[in-house]
This record gives sequence, structure tokens and C-alpha cells, in this order.
Amino acid sequence: MDADKVIAMQSATNPTRSHSPRVLILGGTNEASELAAKLAARADLTVISSFAGRVSQPTLPAGLVRVGGFGGVTGLISYLVDENIEVVVDATHPFAAKISGNAELACETVSVPLIALERPPWQPKEHDCWRAVPDVQAAASMVNHKCNRVFLSIGRQELGAFSNCDDAWFLVRAIDEPNAKLPANSKLILQRGPFYLNDELQMLRSESISLIVSKNSGGTATYSKIQAARELQIPVVMIDRPKKHNIPTVARPDDVLRKLAEFL
Ligand code: NAP
Repeated sequence: MDADKVIAMQSATNPTRSHSPRVLILGGTNEASELAAKLAARADLTVISSFAGRVSQPTLPAGLVRVGGFGGVTGLISYLVDENIEVVVDATHPFAAKISGNAELACETVSVPLIALERPPWQPKEHDCWRAVPDVQAAASMVNHKCNRVFLSIGRQELGAFSNCDDAWFLVRAIDEPNAKLPANSKLILQRGPFYLNDELQMLRSESISLIVSKNSGGTATYSKIQAARELQIPVVMIDRPKKHNIPTVARPDDVLRKLAEFL
């Protein structure tokens, strides 16, 4: 899928409904798809999910779908006006900070209500051994030692921070082939979650992983690596979330439904 090109698509499960309030979901998360399914089932509104287009074969949610950047805040403003959007739900990933900032500015400018859906971060439990770092750069400088065999599980977009980590060995997992240069000593596996505990345990054992680098993404789809780390007593370098919202957030798709009722 070409990320630079806006492609309008319509899934077969939901016909276009004219004259009903139009809700835009900024997506890219399981919660966004769950919400789209709930809203698409309703006859009283039209739901449009928006994807950046980073993943080559995304699983399309129910309802209408558009793909590609809007063209910054001004592009998003034009989209909201042209498409007659009445409410925006920002259900993007906790580490996708730019689109959330753009959404806040755009919605404020054209007085369109914005609901921010963000799943809670993971919290350390007993026997977890986490070292919190503020960003990927801090993680890269912390793990690059000869004796480390690192499971690098941060998606593909920010792998460039590790390009010059020549000392450690890395097992890199991503959904699609990364664009960034991988560390000199690395093995790439292309896999899409959800991931399961037994598979994660087996992988960490068979690759003799001594350290894990993870974003604090929250949710269940990728949590099994954290459980596996706990079980095997492998330390986790946990990258903190960026601050991305200036408005109150809700944690679950059902909370969004309640908020929507206030606006529509
Ligand atoms: P980002 O840094 O916040 O956004 C960069 C640019 O990508 C935005 O300015 C916007 O382009 C475009 N964009 C992002 N999300 C979009 C959406 N839902 N619909 C249309 N355009 C969007 O975002 P990112 O970290 O690159 O993440 C991109 C997408 O992947 C997000 O939708 C996010 O939910 C998903 N995702 C991200 C991560 C992660 O770790 N960052 C993990 C899993 C999924 P314009 O300025 O041109 O509008």
C-alpha cells in the first residue's frame, strides 16, 4: 500500500449511509478496529477509519476506510470540513504523538469534538525487572554491549536508533521489512501479533535472549513477551510513552460510545 497516496476504500460489510452523522476514527490499533466494528453496526451514523498506511496488508475494520496522511494540520482541517465530519476519535497508538497533536489542533480550529482513546500502559508486576527509559535513543545507548543478546521489539519505524549498535546481538521483530539499516549483528523476523506466551518463551529460550527492548504499548496483543520475560527473569528496557494528549483520555472503546452519545 502506498502511504503517500490517499486511497478511499469501502469494506463490503457496511454500505455508505448518507445523512447520518459522520465519525472519523484515527486508527492503527486493535481498539480502533473494535470501535469501528461497534459503530459500523449502527444505522444512525457513518464511521470512517483512517490509517497512515505504514503496514503493507492491514486488516481492514468494518465501515469506510481511508489510507494515507492528511497533509499536516491544514490537510486534516480540509478533510474534516470537506467530509463533513461531526466527531473525531483519536484511537491511534500510544507512541503516535504527531497525529494526535495534529488532531487536537485541527479539531479545535474547526470546532469538531475530539475523543481521545488510549489504552493504559503496562505496569510492572512482582518479579518483573524493568529499566524505564524515556525514548528509543536512550534504549539504544543502554543495550549496546558485547555480552547482550537483545530481543528488539519496537516495531520498525524507530529501528534506525539502533543502526550503529555494533557490539550487541539483536533479534529484531517487525511486521514488515524495516527501511532502516539494521545493527551489524542481527537477525530479522517478520511476524504480526497477537503473540502467545508459549511461543514467546520458546523463542526467547532458543535465541538465548538476555535483554528485551519494548515500548510500553499496553494492551494484550504483545503483552506475552513481558510475561515471558518475567517467567525467564529476563530484564526489559521499557520505553516510556511520549506525552501525546492535552485533553482527557478514555481507556476503552465502550467509554467512547458513552462520550459519543453526548456529542451526537
Ligand atoms: P505519528 O508519528 O503520530 O504520525 C506521523 C504522520 O503519519 C502524521 O503526521 C500523519 O501524516 C500520518 N498519520 C499517522 N496516523 C495516521 C492515521 N491514523 N491516519 C492518517 N494519517 C496518519 O504516527 P506513527 O508513529 O508514524 O504511526 C503511524 C500509524 O501507525 C498510527 O496510525 C498509529 O496508530 C499506528 N501505529 C504506530 C505505532 C508506533 O509505535 N508508533 C505502533 C503501532 C501502530 P499527515 O501529517 O500527513 O496527516
